[in-house]
Amino acid sequence: MSKLTPSSLFDEAKRKLKEVFGYDSFRPKQAEVIRQVLEHKDSLALMPTGGGKSICYQIPALVFEGCTVVVSPLIALMKDQVDGLRENGIAAAALNSGLPSDEATEIRKAFCRGDLKLLYISPERLVFEIENLLSRGNVSLFAIDEAHCISQWGHDFRPEYTQLFKLRETFPHVPILALTATADAITREDILQQLRIPEENLVLDSFDRKNLSLDVRLNYKKQSKLDEIAEFIQDRSGESGIIYCLSRNSTEKVAEDLSKRGIKATAYHAGMTSEARAKIQEDFIYDRTKVICATIAFGMGIDKSNIRFVIHYNTPKNMEGFYQEIGRAGRDGLPADTLLFYSDSDIVQLAKFAQDSKDPQQRHLQLEKLARIQHYATSLVCRRRILLGYFGEVMEKDCGNCDICNHPPRRFNGTILAQKALSAIVRTKEQENANMIIDILRGSQRAEILAKGYDKIKTFGVGAATPADKWQAYIQQMIHLGCLTMSYTDKKTLRITEFGKQVLFGEKEIQLALITEQAVTSSRKASTATPKVSVRLSSKDNLEGSDATLFEALRIHRRNLADAANVPPYVIFSDKVLLGMVQERPSSLKDMANIPGIGVQKLQRYGQSFLDIIKGD
Ligand code: ADP
Ligand code: ZN
Repeated sequence: MSKLTPSSLFDEAKRKLKEVFGYDSFRPKQAEVIRQVLEHKDSLALMPTGGGKSICYQIPALVFEGCTVVVSPLIALMKDQVDGLRENGIAAAALNSGLPSDEATEIRKAFCRGDLKLLYISPERLVFEIENLLSRGNVSLFAIDEAHCISQWGHDFRPEYTQLFKLRETFPHVPILALTATADAITREDILQQLRIPEENLVLDSFDRKNLSLDVRLNYKKQSKLDEIAEFIQDRSGESGIIYCLSRNSTEKVAEDLSKRGIKATAYHAGMTSEARAKIQEDFIYDRTKVICATIAFGMGIDKSNIRFVIHYNTPKNMEGFYQEIGRAGRDGLPADTLLFYSDSDIVQLAKFAQDSKDPQQRHLQLEKLARIQHYATSLVCRRRILLGYFGEVMEKDCGNCDICNHPPRRFNGTILAQKALSAIVRTKEQENANMIIDILRGSQRAEILAKGYDKIKTFGVGAATPADKWQAYIQQMIHLGCLTMSYTDKKTLRITEFGKQVLFGEKEIQLALITEQAVTSSRKASTATPKVSVRLSSKDNLEGSDATLFEALRIHRRNLADAANVPPYVIFSDKVLLGMVQERPSSLKDMANIPGIGVQKLQRYGQSFLDIIKGD
């Protein structure tokens, strides 16, 4: 097959996508990555959780001759992937330290015989096998999953990953594909440089997770918080979700309080034995436990695709953590809901933790990051715009899937107001912070302004009619809308983005939320009550009547099949596939093959039994 031209290789790739995974087309960025890989270009793919990274190397693995070696740091994830591939009829195996030696020997033999299409391997094992095993087989591609582990700047540095450059030296002709969901620029540079991947081969996907709803509640008292959570979960009874808490103690308290309200919930934290933790995690993955109250340690290395909600019982300490945690919901692409309880007292406590940091630079950075999550929660701008803006992506429209979009505050055309501030920022050469800009706009005569000659610039005093605290709020909104960035240094200097320039020059308009004396959030509570339905997957997917009954029946059947095969239920079919069956009600295997996510092997293996249930409905 390697004799084919790149474009016919790509046709072959599309055929495999349908045959093996049951999908009709690649997502745009997947297609870009796969084209590069098929052309033997070393590449780095940056995609959000649920973006479909695995397909990016699994498909080339099937198209190329030989075996693709996948480096992955988490044993649980490897197992999940191998189970999933085998369910789709692909010869895959995993080599890691947890394996009995006779099994490892079998896998090594299979690799040398050329019987494997994909071999997953832990990084420490890989370093050893570069010399011992890999040169004895035919490696078609190296896929390096969780590639941010290579960088000390990332949040999950693994020393063994720094040895991966040896792959490039020992196998100069085998392409490398690095993949990660961690977006920040320093880590990205580090990966490119250490693996010697040319900059132009970076494929950067949007980090927007449109299927996640974003909802924030401010300053709830403990009892009403628990009431609200209980109601939220009862609305989605039978669905899987995680409640993140700040302390070990609170995971247990919340689980206990929910249990008193009739909701079965299990606590999870680092103070438990590793056996206890493994058991809780497994029960969750296999759909035996639905609700987990956990510290942030929970969820790393979990690939479970049908997590339908993530609740933050406490305020998270930064946006990175928050996005990673909510990112665990809805990996199957179906709508999933997130709910953040923000409280000023959490902020006080988190600020104390940050103050304890010995390194002054770290202390400052942590406090700044805390301020950003505070802005996110208390702002009147579409939440997703703030979130994506924080990660460097400018959204020019509101998302329609957050609480601010659903209950918008009063808005006005803020273009002229914004232009005043933007102009002052340009005229002070992007060297000043919000306080100084506001003083200039309001025409302050304080000494520093006079000394710097700012009283001479054109915008001096043009914003005198707007009080300083309102200016603060509007500038904050301008940051959230992507007009400005604020530096992390002590000075908090404001800079203008490309979008900000367009607003300044009148090419784009912006809407600002009118700041009145009243908080707008109080009106939200009442609207959250929703009618009870039989199966509510999320705020978007309500199934009623026979649809709900059928979905439940399919789900029970999936669970039985999964138990028999000893794999997690979502490895058999995702929630999305089951929903597809409910909506399409296929009456033949041919109809069923049209539902996205059902490949040939699964159709043969499971199709009829699901059809029988649909027919019997
Ligand atoms: P990631 O590793 O980036 O978090 P996954 O590889 O687990 O994401 O994919 C997320 C989900 O998207 C999976 O359920 C997968 O089957 C599905 N998926 C991937 N590619 C496609 C595609 N081209 N069309 C439809 N669904 C896809
Ligand atoms: Zn929104």
